[in-house]
Amino acid sequence: MDVNDQCPRCAATRRSWVRDGFYTRLDDAKRIQRWLCKQCGKKFSSATFKPTYRQKKRRINSTVRFGFGSNMCQRDIAELVGVNVKTVAARLIWQAKLSRAKNQRYIKAFIAKHGSIKRVQFDDLLTFEHTNCKPLTVPIAVIDGHRVPLGFGIAPIPASGRLAAIARKRYGKRADHSRIIREALLKQLTQVLPEDVTFKTDGHTHYPVAIKHHFPKATHTVHISERGSVVGQGELKKIRFDPLFSINHSFATIRAKINRLNRRTWCTTKVPDRLADHIDIFIDVFSDRLKLLDVTVWRHRNLPDNIASLTADVT
Ligand SMILES: [Zn+2]
Repeated sequence: MDVNDQCPRCAATRRSWVRDGFYTRLDDAKRIQRWLCKQCGKKFSSATFKPTYRQKKRRINSTVRFGFGSNMCQRDIAELVGVNVKTVAARLIWQAKLSRAKNQRYIKAFIAKHGSIKRVQFDDLLTFEHTNCKPLTVPIAVIDGHRVPLGFGIAPIPASGRLAAIARKRYGKRADHSRIIREALLKQLTQVLPEDVTFKTDGHTHYPVAIKHHFPKATHTVHISERGSVVGQGELKKIRFDPLFSINHSFATIRAKINRLNRRTWCTTKVPDRLADHIDIFIDVFSDRLKLLDVTVWRHRNLPDNIASLTADVT
């Protein structure tokens, strides 16, 4: 089925189109309908409107998406699906765009099904680009109890501790954009969260200021963070009841499932934007795994109409 009902040149509706034969696509041997627009004479096909338009390796898309959300490195994915690693690298960017749109729809569908989100957990995940001397902070918000990620940001921060002096010597002074990105994330969250939402965070000093700024009517509870347990990727805590379990468990999952965020890995982020792409694909795969909501197109009949319209898949 086509996702678009308009001529790509003159935006004429389907009424103005006539069938104009078929062609057999080399990639998957599918017969594709061609169309002719009677208004402007433009010829196009059913494939023109698909996100996969002009791709030569459509069949790898679902495996690539799954691989990126399942702790595989780009070379392993390339070997598994039988393409060049550069194809996988290009597909990372392509898939991230789709995943980002799907993640937005997922949150809307979640709110439509479960009502407005009352409690949110918020924290910063630390990683780096290229070297430990160039750290990145990744503030992430998740729904308390459900672990559905609501949004994230990525910003450079200067190295701290014993690396601080070495980092300054090697790479010069590094900007600290952590506050800017946290403010941006909270601003983005005002679109989906109610005014009287409750935030649960650890004792970071910037959180109360930023939350107060964007959610003046929100409740903010602070839980002092505990020592990590050995198996928990540093994220699962050594106490019986962790009030920040949702965010800590999400971070542990992110560390285990996004290859470049593993502890002691040699697959590191080189470009922060690609890390953002990778996290978006992970969130897409992860929200499917949570099995709270199915936003894939072939299960629409089980959803109420208002949700189905939000979850229409574009692939
Ligand atoms: Zn036309």
